[in-house]
Amino acid sequence: MLAAGDESEVRAAAGRSAEVVDLEGAAVIPGLYDAHIHTANYARGLSEVDLRGVRSLEAALARISEHASRLEPGAWLSGGRWNSNTWERPVQPDRYALDSVCPDRPVALPSVDGHTTWANSLALRMMGIDRGTPDPVGGQIVKDADGEPTGILRESAAYPLRDLMTSGDLSAMLRVAQEELLALGLTSVHDIDGEDCRAAYLELRAAGELKLRVHKAIPRDHLEAAIAEGRRTGQGDDWFRTGPVKLFSDGALGSHTCHMSEPFAGTPGNAGIAVTPYPELVRLIGAASAAGIAVATHAIGDLANHLVINAYEAAGGRAVLRHRIEHAQHLRPADIKRMAVLGVVASMQPVHCTSDLDLVSSLLGERDLASYAWRTMLDSGVALAFGSDAPVEHPNPFAALHAAVTRTRPDGRPPGGWQPEQRLSFGEALRAHTFGSAYAAGEERRKGVLAEGMLADFLALDTDPFAEPSDALLRTKVLTTVVGGEIRWARS
Ligand SMILES: [Zn+2]
Repeated sequence: MLAAGDESEVRAAAGRSAEVVDLEGAAVIPGLYDAHIHTANYARGLSEVDLRGVRSLEAALARISEHASRLEPGAWLSGGRWNSNTWERPVQPDRYALDSVCPDRPVALPSVDGHTTWANSLALRMMGIDRGTPDPVGGQIVKDADGEPTGILRESAAYPLRDLMTSGDLSAMLRVAQEELLALGLTSVHDIDGEDCRAAYLELRAAGELKLRVHKAIPRDHLEAAIAEGRRTGQGDDWFRTGPVKLFSDGALGSHTCHMSEPFAGTPGNAGIAVTPYPELVRLIGAASAAGIAVATHAIGDLANHLVINAYEAAGGRAVLRHRIEHAQHLRPADIKRMAVLGVVASMQPVHCTSDLDLVSSLLGERDLASYAWRTMLDSGVALAFGSDAPVEHPNPFAALHAAVTRTRPDGRPPGGWQPEQRLSFGEALRAHTFGSAYAAGEERRKGVLAEGMLADFLALDTDPFAEPSDALLRTKVLTTVVGGEIRWARS
């Protein structure tokens, strides 16, 4: 970024010939940065249509057609979970119906119980199925009165699809997903998915097709290999960088597997699970740190968080590397100060708070815990980095900003917000979703604020979130997304 300021200041830096874009008063904010997102899972989900709840063949075809319009030409359309027994006219669907909306991409849609697959003509052709194909052992290729396959495959007849579809090109899916993320206002992500995702992003970058900046985490299983090949956190360039190794300390609240000091309400004896035993946690953090790899450890329960903080401390006090805790949901109040002292970043997802609040009240009840304690963390000097954990939650960062500012759900419940003393101002929430995520990646000199010398990553919005009431965040739309000084996405 050459300059930021009013027109005359920017003109002085950019020169007479600079092109002027009049945004007609639209608000401009730094590009949003998701500090914890599973983009490969998200991208795979985008390629799947969900036909649960559909009540007729026509409605199913309309949904399939709408979904297909968002996919790359020729990409597989998958998903399904249809149930023709619940349709107004319970017909057995056929390939001709699918061909009418998807003639030139392969489509294969398992039913809700997974035992029947509805395929179109192109998918059958790719599977090598025609009128001469016999039923396989343990399966049936349904044929009509003329002996033509109808597109319905039962049981093992659909198995060949597995190989055909898993080779579905992840980089093509990510190319679609990045458009969705840019449209939501994300210009950078910390991706938490696997090595296949890393390879797919590198493919996109090599092809000059990466429009979103990626800080790529290393899965725990790949840590030794990453160390052996000399991978280090922060290696790379402004488009693709090596991120931290992702470890797990515990499970999740909803499945009663987050690691707590005291048992969950109503289940005496169950205080969750230490997914990685403490000595192993210390060993992994030590090995990663020694190799220059930062550590991002998933911890939800108070004991899990306590042990991770102990392990970071044992690995060498205030590290040069930015170690982080993913989720950091329920903490002993005294541990928040320790995070600040050790420089451990809290990577948190505001929508988890509003999604989980009933669960927190029923399972954790009245105990002295700091839950989703954004205000206490900021006031204690803990660096906050915000994200979505998509596809667990929707990746829309404005939903996260709304949750951080209100601690209410989009429907306004609970009125006044849950533990409202932990709310943030819009400016603080925005900072956590921009600068905070950049800080977690060691990129705070390149990203997160609009100033000379920073990367030119910014958004134009249809509403000014600093001027409007917080509920406007739920309706805020991105007009234009600029990454690296180029318009990468614009609302048409
Ligand atoms: Zn996650």
